[in-house]
Amino acid sequence: MDFSLSTEEREVRDWVRTFVQRELMPLEPEVLRRERRNEPGLTSDELAALQLKAKESGFWGVQTPEEYGGMGLSAVMTALLEAELGRTFVPFRFGGAADNILFHANDEQKERYLLPTIAGERKSCFAITEPGAGSDAKNIRTSARKDGADWIINGEKTFITGGNEADFAMVFAVTDPAKGAAGGVTCFLVDRDMGWKSEPIDTMGEWGPASLVFDEVRVPESQILGEEGRGFALAMQWIGRGRYLLPARAIGSCERLISMAIEHANTRETFGAPIATRQAIQWMIADSGVELEALRWLVLHAAWQVDSGMDSRHAQSIAKLYGGIKANEIVDRVLQIHGGMGYTRELPIERWYRELRLLRIYEGTDEIQRRTIARNLLKGHVKIGGALG
Ligand SMILES: Cc1cc2nc3c(=O)[nH]c(=O)nc-3n(C[C@H](O)[C@H](O)[C@H](O)COP(=O)(O)OP(=O)(O)OC[C@H]3O[C@@H](n4cnc5c(N)ncnc54)[C@H](O)[C@@H]3O)c2cc1C
Repeated sequence: MDFSLSTEEREVRDWVRTFVQRELMPLEPEVLRRERRNEPGLTSDELAALQLKAKESGFWGVQTPEEYGGMGLSAVMTALLEAELGRTFVPFRFGGAADNILFHANDEQKERYLLPTIAGERKSCFAITEPGAGSDAKNIRTSARKDGADWIINGEKTFITGGNEADFAMVFAVTDPAKGAAGGVTCFLVDRDMGWKSEPIDTMGEWGPASLVFDEVRVPESQILGEEGRGFALAMQWIGRGRYLLPARAIGSCERLISMAIEHANTRETFGAPIATRQAIQWMIADSGVELEALRWLVLHAAWQVDSGMDSRHAQSIAKLYGGIKANEIVDRVLQIHGGMGYTRELPIERWYRELRLLRIYEGTDEIQRRTIARNLLKGHVKIGGALG
């Protein structure tokens, strides 16, 4: 068993680490100031300029296949890279990416949606959640009825990331109520100018999702992504594209947070000695270090299963569940170690505290991950001995 990185993995990891240190971390004070004023941390022009800078070194379309101009990196490499990006709260992501399900587009749709999205000219959003259907996504009510050669969409979507900025939405609607999710849900590509409206939703995080309203929105048959009735499988493919990626980012955040806690514990004195000499503080540091280490290997193991072509869903659910819970416990301890300062807005800890909370909710809540993990174990879909048998 070899836990070391290959030369290529190390080089990619080191390049991103340097990029984060040189280009992103210096922006942190300004990002915080802007966010405190309720402005975006980075303007879209600033983000585009940073993405271009990364592109000059070849970092573009991290998981986009090479035939589309991307890097086509493995899951393990992507996880390593996400962990590096997680070391800063500057809201950066590499350019050249597109939703995995857009690769199911036909040639004409690829020209209009996939390629402009990869080029950064168009923005997409993924819209399945509704006011009455979140965890229970099979219960969606948004409908599409046939009218001649067109479809008429009616319904409301909620909590849609990027929904207020998107040029087009990938919308999941019921086209055959009798079949429901088993063959009666279809995915439509719907341009904003086809008539849907969006409204931002204020959240405790620094970026807000949106609600989308479809009121008799008419779309031609050619807007169906994939096949009529096969939309639910596409939705599951989008959600399952990389559950390991969310906790991967949390690895970097936890590394940075624990480093802050160590530095503070070694320098802050109370009752004549650094707080690092107190067992209460040492145990918080120890538990955080152990959990971070466990998280790192759960994430990399799930990514390795993806690269090996194995059914990685169980491993990914474990990594997502553990990452959400432990990252929240770690940021809470780090805040505690900083005392009153941890609670202020002078330090970014409270910002991470709010951001990491989302990890336990979106793309499958803790409870839904546990439901999946328990079902796999109780029904014998996976062995209790793990991937080694
Ligand atoms: C910031 C943000 C961004 C998001 N981005 C998107 C997006 O881009 N696109 C999109 O379509 N959706 C998006 N979502 C929606 C997100 O996926 C849902 O909020 C999530 O799946 C939970 O659904 P819900 O909010 O309806 O909660 P509910 O499903 O109503 O659940 C409420 C509570 O009950 C628990 N629960 C539910 N069922 C069970 C069960 N069977 N057993 C035990 N407990 C259960 C849940 O875990 C939760 O604690 C986003 C949400 C947020 C907050």
